[in-house]
Amino acid sequence: AKPQLPLLSRLLSHAPTSTAFHNPSVHYSELVRSSSLMASTLSSLPSSSSSSSSRIAYLLPPSLAYASTQIGCFASGSAAVPLCTMHTVSELAYYLEDSAPSAVVVQGDEFSSRVSEALASNNQTSDVKLINYDDVMSGLASVTDADAYEGSLLASHQVSLEDPALFIYTSGTTGKPKGVVHTHRSFTAQVTDLVKAWEWTADDHILHFLPLHHIHGIQNKLNSALYAGATVEFMRFNSPKLFDRLSSATDPAPSLFMGVPTVYAKLLEEARTRKGGTTDEQLQGSVSALSGMRLHVCGSAALPSTVMAGWKDLTSHTLLERYGMSELGMALGNPYKGDRHEGHVGVPFDSVEVRIFNPETGDEVPEGAGSGELQVRGGVVFKEYFGKPEATAKEFKEGWFCTGDIAEYNTELQSYKILGRASVDIIKSGGFKISALDIEREILEHPAVEEAVVLGVEDDIKGEAICVLLRLGGGHGTEGAAFGEGGLRGWMKTFTAGYKLPSKVQVLDEIPKNAMGKYAKKELKKLFL
Ligand code: ATP
Ligand code: MG
Repeated sequence: AKPQLPLLSRLLSHAPTSTAFHNPSVHYSELVRSSSLMASTLSSLPSSSSSSSSRIAYLLPPSLAYASTQIGCFASGSAAVPLCTMHTVSELAYYLEDSAPSAVVVQGDEFSSRVSEALASNNQTSDVKLINYDDVMSGLASVTDADAYEGSLLASHQVSLEDPALFIYTSGTTGKPKGVVHTHRSFTAQVTDLVKAWEWTADDHILHFLPLHHIHGIQNKLNSALYAGATVEFMRFNSPKLFDRLSSATDPAPSLFMGVPTVYAKLLEEARTRKGGTTDEQLQGSVSALSGMRLHVCGSAALPSTVMAGWKDLTSHTLLERYGMSELGMALGNPYKGDRHEGHVGVPFDSVEVRIFNPETGDEVPEGAGSGELQVRGGVVFKEYFGKPEATAKEFKEGWFCTGDIAEYNTELQSYKILGRASVDIIKSGGFKISALDIEREILEHPAVEEAVVLGVEDDIKGEAICVLLRLGGGHGTEGAAFGEGGLRGWMKTFTAGYKLPSKVQVLDEIPKNAMGKYAKKELKKLFL
């Protein structure tokens, strides 16, 4: 029987002995067998919990267990709800209450007890079945390749492209995380767009160190690889370990690298530390492994120009910056072949149509005629925020999804630029509209500055005053220590118009970020009140 769902039929078509996961090594046939067993286990749950509207959550390490549980959900017709391994009991309780799954799959005592506690605190214990992944897999020996490949375990006959496939919670940067429901149709459009745009093949090998509860780690890295029949190598993100892995010549060479801006910034710091030290020779090995890859991609937050330039210096790669969100997967990207423009996010992917809209006039802004809200439609767009019909309705206008991000199109470069979130990044000060992201990019050019967050804080005279949080680098001695409010303003005056100068500056040892390395700007503004 032929599977209905594109990802599942692709999995069955990959060479069974090709490598799905490296270290430990797992063949595609083992992934197919494990997924089949998980699918049949989930299908045999009481009917109320395996109906097409049911949800299965899972708290699993980045591994075969995670991938086969996700695929098992798809094949059995339940929506997959990945949970974040970094989350505490009370955080997990939020996601479990919001998504109300019929079962949670876990592996290991620690994950199991964290989930049990969270369920107990929600009084969900009697409604939600706790499934131990290893218990399920104890039956794996009885699933043959023939069962998995020719049997109908992954056939997913009863599952339609319009059924819910995957819940992805937003990062919670602007409020409580919302459960974004993707159907198999939007899921597939996202993956096929990326596989095509970035020319994924079965020969690719990707280092995967991003969280697996977020669109970036799930779609761009894991599911694109599985769709293409490539190899995924999971590792924890840790700059020294990553450099060590890259300098070891014995392992297969990774071909693709994808990260958030912080990842690249941290690796640049690590390279600086290693230069001239005892690990200098090893550094050369790591750098040549990086240089030898075919593509480095960056996104999830604005890429600082300094990071882009530093990375080019170190590895000779021009980072491909792209823009996306939980609700859409990836919407805009710089070209795989062709010029990638600094500060820009390129053009729409295949299944994406965009327009720039002026909410004040209610009109579309013609190409090149200024900024406005970025709106998106097409196959990649999500179905709804789970259990929040009003929130869903509010974000759609005439069939277009309103991203809440402000963008502009540059006709000369034929590329879109993101100016930031309408709610926190567009600062209205003294009659000007100022992009916080632009000022952050400028401030980050200063050698003493490691991190900069620009905020618009309510001000009686200006409307909003520009306030800046800084984290200074350790390696810059007194230059860094003296670089407070006066230093920043004095330096900025040499190149920036007066209306863009900060009113207040605070230097912090650490600027708080969420699990995706993003700043909750609404919260951070309170530091200035
Ligand atoms: P929440 O919706 O809960 O407030 P969030 O919007 O941070 O959280 P995500 O869906 O993970 O949750 O992030 C999408 C947002 O990330 C986009 O709307 C945009 O503001 C930002 N973003 C993603 N890529 C880029 C980029 N290349 N440049 C600038 N901003 C980006
Ligand atoms: Mg959002």
